[in-house]
Amino acid sequence: MSQSNRIGGYAILTWGCQMNDDDSAQMAAMLEGEGYELAPVDEADVVLLNTCSVRAKPEQKAYSKLGQLRELKLTRPGTIIGVCGCMAQKEAPEIRRRAPHVDMVIGTGQIDRLPALIERIRRERVPIVATDLPNRKVRSEKYTPSRIVEGTAPKLKSFVSISYGCDKFCTFCIVPITRGKERSRPADEIVIEVERLASQGTRQVTLLGQTVNSYGKFLDAPCSFANLLARLNDIEGIERIRYTSPYPKDFNSDVIAAIATLPKVMPQVHMPVQVGDDTLLERMHRGYSIDQYRKIVADLRSAVPDVALTTDIMLGFPGETDEQFENTMAFVREMRYDSAFMFAYSPREGTKATEMGDQVPHTVKIRRLEALIALQNQITLEINESEIGRVYPVLVEGQSPKDAGKWTGLTPQGKTMNFPGDGDLIGKTVLVRATSAHLWGYTGEQIPAKEERGIKLTLLPA
Ligand code: SF4
Repeated sequence: MSQSNRIGGYAILTWGCQMNDDDSAQMAAMLEGEGYELAPVDEADVVLLNTCSVRAKPEQKAYSKLGQLRELKLTRPGTIIGVCGCMAQKEAPEIRRRAPHVDMVIGTGQIDRLPALIERIRRERVPIVATDLPNRKVRSEKYTPSRIVEGTAPKLKSFVSISYGCDKFCTFCIVPITRGKERSRPADEIVIEVERLASQGTRQVTLLGQTVNSYGKFLDAPCSFANLLARLNDIEGIERIRYTSPYPKDFNSDVIAAIATLPKVMPQVHMPVQVGDDTLLERMHRGYSIDQYRKIVADLRSAVPDVALTTDIMLGFPGETDEQFENTMAFVREMRYDSAFMFAYSPREGTKATEMGDQVPHTVKIRRLEALIALQNQITLEINESEIGRVYPVLVEGQSPKDAGKWTGLTPQGKTMNFPGDGDLIGKTVLVRATSAHLWGYTGEQIPAKEERGIKLTLLPA
């Protein structure tokens, strides 16, 4: 964008999941297409808060930021302040009540309209609330947003949303309300997007969806998640394919076979279990039993022996007893996850779990959470230590921000590897031997190119 085309600065603050990161990238691309340039918040003409409602904390942070922006609006009244994302979808009236200086509230189904809404505010000088979810009742591909790929900054790793919304209605989760019914993008459209990203320098794509491996229902031209992985595996230039977050029950045999046989689909699976107790799973409306989950993991580990398995675990769901908590601890010992995202249940207004009696006291939740984190950390470290000496192909992303003087990248299993190395390695895949283990991954040493031929890669995908 030449300086003469610049019409203003924009800033986007993002909370929450990778889906929100991807939405923010799409909004940035839209604004840059209109002539806006990235700017610090206090110099921007448009400030967007892309919010998260999954837990209480990100909501509190967003309201606190809105409080700070009140000052900005007083000193720079022309600044357009917008709230987008799940909070915008869930509580537009509350946002307008608590922060009347907000100019626009844009729901998750309306971000395509961002430039038009900004234009309208500039013209009419009235606040706008746009939270229609036309997809609330329908699941058609017609209700997936259009995407911008051309003109976005080249990236080594790119996110690609392949589906939106969720039909599972877990009793603790607000997502089906804030993101609407499950809709998948047509496969041809996704393939074209990934081909373009590859031609712009992307080497790794991460496919995004609330239940990403449920992909493909209700498409005019049918395509399963396994078929989509196969099509993306054929795209020249793409070296690694990852995806998040899957739903355990939708790991059918075709998906497991695709992970086992497609060389670009990385041996890293995130499979949220939530708890290790059947009664709680039922109350959560998760749709699987512990035995069914156990079988999916056994099938996966048998087909993909090098797979790294990670999970989500929620403690303190309403009614969780000491015994049920111990069942979760025992299941974590049995599964030996490579790592886990662990958190305390947080009531979300509008969900069924909020209305359940027997809310677990905060102190109990925290005590259980601390015990679980200690257990999982011990397992993570044991697994990583057992892999010292192994050689991994690492796609180098840049200099480590935390380990001065070292390069950093991910192993196929999605673990961080930091290592010293000469020359510019960004974008290259190099072989690195793990020499020490940490909770976050490994430190290693690069295998010199002349020695690579003799190296046995014990943890390469098939
Ligand atoms: S599967 Fe359950 S936890 Fe995941 S997004 Fe859907 S409702 Fe929420």
